[in-house]
Amino acid sequence: MGVEPRRYHIITQGCQMNVRDSQAMAGLLAGLGYEHAEDPADADVIVLNTCTVREGADDKAYGRLGELRALKRRRPGLILGMAVCLVQKDRERVLKRAPWLDLVFGVHNIHRLPELLQQAQDGCMPVYEVWDRSDKERPLPVLPAVRAGGVRGFVNIIHGCNKFCTFCIVPYVRGRERSVPPEAVLAEVRALAGQGYREVTLLGQNVDSYGHDLTPRRDLADLLRLVHDVPGIDRIRFTTSHPRDMTRRLIETVAALPKACEHIHLPVQAGHDGVLRRMHRAYTTGQYRATIDAIREAMPAASITTDLIVGFPGETEDEFEATLRFVETVRFDAANTAMYSPREGTPAARYGDQVPEEAKRRRLHALNQMQERIAAEINAGLVGTTQDVLVEDVGVRGGVLGRTRTNKVVRTDGGPELVGRVIPVAIAGAGSWVLRGHPVGVPA
Ligand code: SF4
Repeated sequence: MGVEPRRYHIITQGCQMNVRDSQAMAGLLAGLGYEHAEDPADADVIVLNTCTVREGADDKAYGRLGELRALKRRRPGLILGMAVCLVQKDRERVLKRAPWLDLVFGVHNIHRLPELLQQAQDGCMPVYEVWDRSDKERPLPVLPAVRAGGVRGFVNIIHGCNKFCTFCIVPYVRGRERSVPPEAVLAEVRALAGQGYREVTLLGQNVDSYGHDLTPRRDLADLLRLVHDVPGIDRIRFTTSHPRDMTRRLIETVAALPKACEHIHLPVQAGHDGVLRRMHRAYTTGQYRATIDAIREAMPAASITTDLIVGFPGETEDEFEATLRFVETVRFDAANTAMYSPREGTPAARYGDQVPEEAKRRRLHALNQMQERIAAEINAGLVGTTQDVLVEDVGVRGGVLGRTRTNKVVRTDGGPELVGRVIPVAIAGAGSWVLRGHPVGVPA
């Protein structure tokens, strides 16, 4: 009888950066001979990869840990780990809250997982390793990845952020910006193409500042051109951009490269200069508008999406009204909207003029109503057009789901044979979030 393989299960909370970190952990564990366990109850090692962007994210992580503890009681040999953002923020406090954890590691220690796991297996528990964000001496490790397979792949091109917006915890947990060298990015994109992926999204907290720390210096426009040459990849996206760092050269490059999709996600956060100043966003509404104008001039069909926060400390009714007017006139295709929630350790959390929850809720509701109307109006303008749709998956209620180049979700007829193909779809209906249509002249 053969020896049963050891198994791992990784639970990922948070953003696409965390998804990529989990893929790296999976790659490292696969390198040790571990296999993936679908069910955590079958795993020998479980890692909870945490997020800390909002207050609720912390509660979600600690709540999930509580559930996992029950598994550990049933299987004392199970190695239970917690990693990344919340660990980086809470440090040793994690072990005070969950002293039964076996393995705790931070954002900058992911590549050390094999050694740390070995220490845990050797019985030196709990194993705790959280390196400081400011250690620039250590080279950026190139990590393997195990991906579930699919149509759209995500590649980290820059880690950390230098901006220090007053509401954001990211620079404190993810550290300062460090770009991934173009050769490493290209190797990963080629690997994705080899696995059948058709679309790649270049990821980072601020991708527009890519390459300023490399020698020789590079920028995102250079990288887009390099990725564009990878055979097998048909679509390229990037996120997240920062209005301060989005250059005309980048906009012109996206417009010029056929594979670069005409969708720009450009978080504005607020439509009032005073609020932007208090957020430390480093641009004005006028500068933001000028960038939008440049995008629309270069790519008239581009979709533009954004992030908005309501109820930032000190935000008055008049300031919020200014944001509504801004949204009405800029006309975003979509917006991620959120009520401000204080993050411990950030400057804004210490501001004395916090906005009452009731006012935040009211403002969020008004903003969402306006944005949904605008999105529905913009999408209604696509009815009667034909859009190239990259089919990603079969729909749970039949048909297939895919995206336009402008990142709009489209539901259309068809079966699994269409997954991974770009097909022309005649748009017949539209809501705020999803377009509906029928394939036209799909080649066999
Ligand atoms: S630019 Fe984005 S990631 Fe960086 S501090 Fe501001 S909100 Fe956070």
